[in-house]
Amino acid sequence: MSVTTWNDVECVSDAGAVLGEGPLWDADDALLWWVDIERGEVHALDPRGVREQVYPVGQPVGAIARRVGGGVVCAVRDGFGALDTASGDFTLLAGVGEDDPGTRMNDGKCDRHGRFWAGTMAFDMRRGAGALYRLDPDHRVRTIFDGVSISNGLAWNADDTTMYYIDTLTYGIDALDYDPETGDVSNRRRFIEIDPQDGAPDGMTIDAEDHLWVALFGGACVHRYAPDGSLAGIVRLPPRQVTSCAFGGEDLTELFVTTASNGVPEPDARAQQAGGVFRCRPGVRGVPAIRFGG
Ligand code: ZN
Repeated sequence: MSVTTWNDVECVSDAGAVLGEGPLWDADDALLWWVDIERGEVHALDPRGVREQVYPVGQPVGAIARRVGGGVVCAVRDGFGALDTASGDFTLLAGVGEDDPGTRMNDGKCDRHGRFWAGTMAFDMRRGAGALYRLDPDHRVRTIFDGVSISNGLAWNADDTTMYYIDTLTYGIDALDYDPETGDVSNRRRFIEIDPQDGAPDGMTIDAEDHLWVALFGGACVHRYAPDGSLAGIVRLPPRQVTSCAFGGEDLTELFVTTASNGVPEPDARAQQAGGVFRCRPGVRGVPAIRFGG
């Protein structure tokens, strides 16, 4: 099968994020939400008017989801918290690893039942220090599994039978059997291997054709993989540190990609618009983001 390449991308927010991550399109407010983990900021971007609101949460924030009742649930250094977007107040809902100052929460996403999954990593990236957690709508936290290095991308297939998961330092994408009613996962296995020369697998999303879009940190690209695991497409971006992606826009045909500027020396960072948010129109439709049910 041939591999499609997209080079036509535009920067929609030249925010210069240290570590931009966690893009999420909310259809109700037509905003692209994303985070700068290291600055501890939640961003709400209107990509048409390029207006952008920034909410500081006071600690590193790895991922977010909108809540059914309004506001934003956040995976932060100390656990799961709630951002009130009207007042700007941030409160912790449930602690995770508060006794371990060496770790923080990283990437996360809601499943179709409104449960918010997010995992952790060590600040010094030591292997095995992280875990994957799930915050249920009743605000109880479950540990799904531990022994993770850098917990990252999550996605679920269209019929809700498979969950995809990235632990970055394993250089691949795992598949797990998934029970949508209980949220239980089992039978974790390797689905796709990533050549380290292509970059390190980071955030990901899935499209309406059940293809995975995987951001490659250090690789200046996003890879699209078919359900059989074969490489189907490549989006090339100016910055090398490509962190995550999500479909958005009114018809979910715009792929938004976050990037990082950390580790990129000037003047390269400025020239590449490192830390910006980019948009590509690959001619494929995404699937809507789910709001947290609690
Ligand atoms: Zn990530």
